[in-house]
This record gives sequence, C-alpha cells and structure tokens, in this order.
Amino acid sequence: MAVKPKAPSVKVAPPEKNLQVPLWKKLEGHQMSLKPLLNAQASNKLAGTLLFAGPSGIGKKFGALVLAQALVCETPLSERPDGAGCGVCGPCLRVAGRQSESLMVVEPDGAQIKIEQARDVLQFITLQKLGRARVVIIDQAHLLGPQSGNALLKSLEEPPAGTYFILVSHLPNAILATLRSRSQLVRFKPLSDEALSKIIGSQDEWLLRAANGSVEQAKRMSEDRGDYETLEHATTAYLEKALEQFPGEEIAALRELLKDRTTHGFVSSVMQRQITDAMKVKGGVKIKPSKLVKALSEKPTLDLLARKSLEFESDLARNVDRGLLLEAFAVELGR
Ligand SMILES: [Zn+2]
Repeated sequence: MAVKPKAPSVKVAPPEKNLQVPLWKKLEGHQMSLKPLLNAQASNKLAGTLLFAGPSGIGKKFGALVLAQALVCETPLSERPDGAGCGVCGPCLRVAGRQSESLMVVEPDGAQIKIEQARDVLQFITLQKLGRARVVIIDQAHLLGPQSGNALLKSLEEPPAGTYFILVSHLPNAILATLRSRSQLVRFKPLSDEALSKIIGSQDEWLLRAANGSVEQAKRMSEDRGDYETLEHATTAYLEKALEQFPGEEIAALRELLKDRTTHGFVSSVMQRQITDAMKVKGGVKIKPSKLVKALSEKPTLDLLARKSLEFESDLARNVDRGLLLEAFAVELGR
C-alpha cells in the first residue's frame, strides 16, 4: 500500500510513553549497520541514496526509520552524542507515529512499484522542505520496474539538498543495475537468536533456528509449523539424495511445496544452513555434524555450492522454472 505525500501537518502523535523512546533505543540488532550512518549524518557526510540489503523480515525498514528520525530531529547534535534522533522533539515524534510530513514510505502496490508511485515521490521531493531533512524510504525496491526506476533515476543520483533516499530490499541483485550503482550499499545481517528471541518473545529452539534471524519467518512458521517441518524435511531429503544419486522423486515433492516467497526463502535458508555448517566442519570448527553436513563438508565443490545456495532465493524469485533450478543444483551436489 502506498503512503501518499501528506499535506504539511502540525498534528503531534499522541504522547504515548513508548513513542518518546528514540527508535534507535528500540532497535534490536543492526547497531553495526546503523552506527556508521548515524555518525556520517552527524558530520554531514551521509550519502544521499542508500540501499539497505539483507534477508527479509529482519528489521531493515525499521532501521531506515531510525536513520530518518536522526535526520529530521531538531534537537542540536551537540545534545545527542549518539547521533540518533532525540525521540521527543516534534519531528522525532511524528516519525515514530508514522505521520511525518518529512517522511514518505513507498511500498509496492500489488506486484510492483507503479509509475504513479514514482511520480508521487518526485512530487514529494519538489515540495518545499519543512524541516531539517526529508526522507523517502522505498521498500521492496527490487519491485521498481524500468519505467518507475527510470523516473527516479536522476533524483536518486543527485537528491536535492537535505533529501535522502533509502532503498530497502532482500533481493538487492534483482534491483535495476542503474539504481543499484547509484546507491551506497548497507548490509543488514540476520538477527541473532538472542535478538530474535527477544522480539518474538519465544525461546523455542526449532523456531529460532528455522526462522534464520527473521521475525517475518518466525511469525509465519509459528502459525504453520507443520507445513514448515514438512518443507524442512523435504529439503533435507533432497540434499541427502542428491549427494548419492539424481533425486527425481525428491525434486518432484519439493517443487510442489515451493509455492511462494516465504517457502522460497525458507528452503534457501535450510540449504544455506546445512552448507554453512559444512564449511565450519571443513574449517575445523568443533560442531557435531549431522550425516548430511559431514557429507557436504567432504565435497570439493563446497565453495561453489555455498555461492549457488546464496543465489537460490533470488533465482526462485525470478520465476525461473523451479524444477529446473532444483535439478541444476542437484547436479552440482552430485559432482
Ligand atoms: Zn528529535
């Protein structure tokens, strides 16, 4: 759903106590990704266009709001040594309440970000700037097609003074190359089990492991746990068989289960986890490997498999034939 530019508003968000806590203090994880940006904006050296990349559902967009709050905050920087927003001035409160006249958040309208939405952005950034800064957050930026992407190209390349673009995506490689090359890449890592556990309020080991540092995944998985256990099982069976012989039946079974973005992400993360563990074993890290992990660790092509597994989710997202993708990966596993 698109958030259209709002008319200048003087409405202050309701003075709920938690709204006055700076977003920076509410952030779980990602301090390492954001601190350098807070420092850069405090010394006026922040790039005008940033790309927040990392797995889905880990808090990249919230990270963008943290930075937006820091940028619009009206409390003098000398009084906020961490560079983050103070949390209590008008502009900070309005960002926290998601009703800031200095902030526009664009989300895909259906399967893509439409040209009308790109035009809304252009209109927003030509309006008179009211505060210290103006921030445009474009969520799922890989859904900017050539038309809407091109409309924004010039603005992203050289945003007007005090205007900042933050592109957010879990599939940075699928972003138009022209946009990507104009953005400074900021990587976000999956949440630690500790941070995730705190956010979702659960210490369920299976859930924390399967969610792979993603709040979004954890939520879906706790709702449909049985389905995900089946999916994990099918993925492991596929990997195990592929190491020995061509896994025809396992591919057929797994292909049927790969039905949407979440299942794509989940299967990719199961693969990545097995391969990461295999790399640890190969590197001499003392963990107790499963039979599958041990067999993977003995593969001379492990580095290649690791690379392929990282590309797997974006390959699936590009709507490539899923059966073919699974077949190609199985061939690599069998070599
Ligand atoms: Zn403030």
